[in-house]
Amino acid sequence: MNVSAHIEAVYAEVCRRNAGEPEFHQAVGEVLHSLAPALHAHPEYLEARIAERVCEPERQVIFRVPWVDDQGRPQVNRGFRVEFSSALGPYKGGLRFHPSVNLGIVKFLGFEQIFKNALTGLAIGGGKGGSDFDPKGRSEGEIMRFCQSFMTELYRHLGEHTDVPAGDIGVGGREIGYLFGQYKRITNRFEAGVLTGKGIGWGGSQARTEATGYGAVFFAKEMLATRGEGFEGRKVVVSGSGNVAVYAIEKVRALGGTVVACSDSSGYVVDEDGIDLELLKGVKEVRRGRLSSYAEAKPKARYSERGSVFEVPCDVALPCATQNELAGQDAGALVKNGVVAVAEGANMPCTPEAIETFREAGVLFGPGKAANAGGVATSALEMQQNASRDVWTFAQTEARLASVMQSVHAECRATAETYGGSADDYVLGANIEGFLRVAEAMTAQGVV
Ligand code: GLU
Repeated sequence: MNVSAHIEAVYAEVCRRNAGEPEFHQAVGEVLHSLAPALHAHPEYLEARIAERVCEPERQVIFRVPWVDDQGRPQVNRGFRVEFSSALGPYKGGLRFHPSVNLGIVKFLGFEQIFKNALTGLAIGGGKGGSDFDPKGRSEGEIMRFCQSFMTELYRHLGEHTDVPAGDIGVGGREIGYLFGQYKRITNRFEAGVLTGKGIGWGGSQARTEATGYGAVFFAKEMLATRGEGFEGRKVVVSGSGNVAVYAIEKVRALGGTVVACSDSSGYVVDEDGIDLELLKGVKEVRRGRLSSYAEAKPKARYSERGSVFEVPCDVALPCATQNELAGQDAGALVKNGVVAVAEGANMPCTPEAIETFREAGVLFGPGKAANAGGVATSALEMQQNASRDVWTFAQTEARLASVMQSVHAECRATAETYGGSADDYVLGANIEGFLRVAEAMTAQGVV
């Protein structure tokens, strides 16, 4: 069989059956187009139609989320949970609350999650969920009532051995608290392992909040080390200013780098002294305000609503905002300014054109399913602590996170080389390594 032609046929069929879901097509395309060498080496996976099967979610749930706003008016949103793959463990992946959420977005995220989770080596399957609810401008009471209504439907699909959600964009510690409270009330069970990202005092793990950002920086550090480099004295641009970005900035600083710019959905701020983390946290978390107020508080900083944060010259770029935020043009600007490494803290922030631009220019590129695996890896560590009723220290948990990121990095390189690529081809390595782990389990478990 001509493997490449077969892959094209599978991809065309996925696009046809999932019409109108461009992000899902993009995520599937990226994985499928890496798989030819793996399927050549493993004709049994071709025979078992693993690629076709893994592209079809095991289960997709869509539900109504009715709630009452502060004015007493009924509101209605749409809730989703896509339980994509349980080959390696219970479905695992975050919930995203954002007006852009639709089935295609949840499916792209769930699909990525399968391979990311496989790469962690921590026995977790892949899933994702969320709602088109917009938390922006909503009161505490509205957020709580929305979360309660969302969980009133979702709870029946969850369980510590079945499906374990966590946070993503728009879902942080506050929302996980309300979701957990409602799950506990409905089921009459303190089932700590049913959600991750919980508060430290009631089943949460140290370092979970920091894990995605820290992990992305650990991954980038490993990439730089392959060229005998480090973060020391390096200029770094981080896009976004949410949870992932904030802790990426913190870790870059700890490793001796300077984050000269970060962004939000309205613009970006450049601070050549290095982004002042306390000020940023104050602006974003305490006041839940816009980034423009950073520059108001610090006159030496410059805020811009025009252009892109990726036009700011840097050695390392960490896109930590959202999907497709870094397009071909941005990649061109980064390359022109001499970027050495790019690691994705967000899920699929770089467009296919951007990735191609980095590849042609020889820029080290860490795809999200490897570079941002630290968040979900630490969720798995939280599940471990819950299952053993244990509590680990921050240092212990961070050390485990660092070692997971090191092995994800090393395995991507080794697999890329084994399958005929350059060790620097992290896209090839991550996609093949993630796929093979899932394919092996699916084959062993039969056609289910
Ligand atoms: N939403 C995060 C991700 O994209 C974390 C998921 C989790 O911890 O389950 O990987």
